[in-house]
Amino acid sequence: MNNTHGYDLSQMINGFKITQMIYVAAKLSIADLLQSGSRSSEELADATKVDSHSLHRVMRALASLGVFHENADGTYELTPLSELLRNDVPGSQRGAAIMWGEDWSWRPWGQLLQSVSTGEPSFDLTFGTGIFDYFTEHGDAGEIFHAAMTSLISLDSEAIIDAYDFSGISDLVDVGGGEGVLLTTLLKSYHELTGTIFDVPSVVQSAEEAIRNAGVSDRCNVVGGDFFESVPSGADAYVLKFIIHDWDDDRALSILRVCRRSMNDSAKILIVDRVIPGPNKGPALKVGDITMMVLTGGLERTESEFRDLLQSAGFRLNRIIPTKTQFSILEAMPS
Ligand code: SAH
Repeated sequence: MNNTHGYDLSQMINGFKITQMIYVAAKLSIADLLQSGSRSSEELADATKVDSHSLHRVMRALASLGVFHENADGTYELTPLSELLRNDVPGSQRGAAIMWGEDWSWRPWGQLLQSVSTGEPSFDLTFGTGIFDYFTEHGDAGEIFHAAMTSLISLDSEAIIDAYDFSGISDLVDVGGGEGVLLTTLLKSYHELTGTIFDVPSVVQSAEEAIRNAGVSDRCNVVGGDFFESVPSGADAYVLKFIIHDWDDDRALSILRVCRRSMNDSAKILIVDRVIPGPNKGPALKVGDITMMVLTGGLERTESEFRDLLQSAGFRLNRIIPTKTQFSILEAMPS
């Protein structure tokens, strides 16, 4: 029986099993292996060096859900859902499918009750460190996280560029810009624009490669650092996409104050984040908020929470521009 939101309780209770089955398929690159045509589970197991009977059972279960299609001869082929588990397709969700099945995200989610009980991120309780320090110490986990962000952000970047006119901006800093997808997409659309990707030193190394590949090296800088200490100064716009939601109010305020200190009075700050809507809607955002509870200790915020936060950091919220993805652009100026 589905409720008025279209959900069946039993499907929801059992959702974690599907997450792990999709994770296995993504991790083993099954969708990429099926790109050239249908293959049996024996062939797939051979190529991925796993147990063929077990893989067959996982594939059969995924095919029963429409993630793959099982043919009468026992071979499997791609469906529109598993097309998105391929590596290099627009809107690929392979990175996210891997991220949500990895030990470092799976175990903290398994401790949600601890987060609710203590108010602390269960990531920190599980691993004894914050998630971004963990990524610095565990390069493989960091790579998976940034690959997921990079694949998820490609469609968002187009949506941000469609929704907001950057033409009045000549120099922009992407604070916590990750591997540089948003900034390189912006630089390709706005030929007069120059920009800087700012992130922790281990991450900006990968951004350098993205900048070279995008052919925008002459207009793009890369700076490694800590946004609780300083950010590059004097630009006329500072973008913070998917940053503020990672942190509780105290930490978010510190980042915003550091930005404020580095900005001229006429510069803008553009927070690109998800704004929590009213009661009984926005499941992706409200579930995303629990991800923050578990993994980072941050939170998704309502419009008034953003307004208050910005005000405390010395900014005035000008307007909120929706995009066609979940993200909104919150444009603010020094007050
Ligand atoms: N803006 C990107 C990345 C968001 S993930 C996007 O939308 O996809 C958050 C980013 O903040 C990561 O790239 C992480 O490395 C960066 N970050 C975390 N702590 C930081 C710090 N103290 N200083 C600078 N960057 C930091």
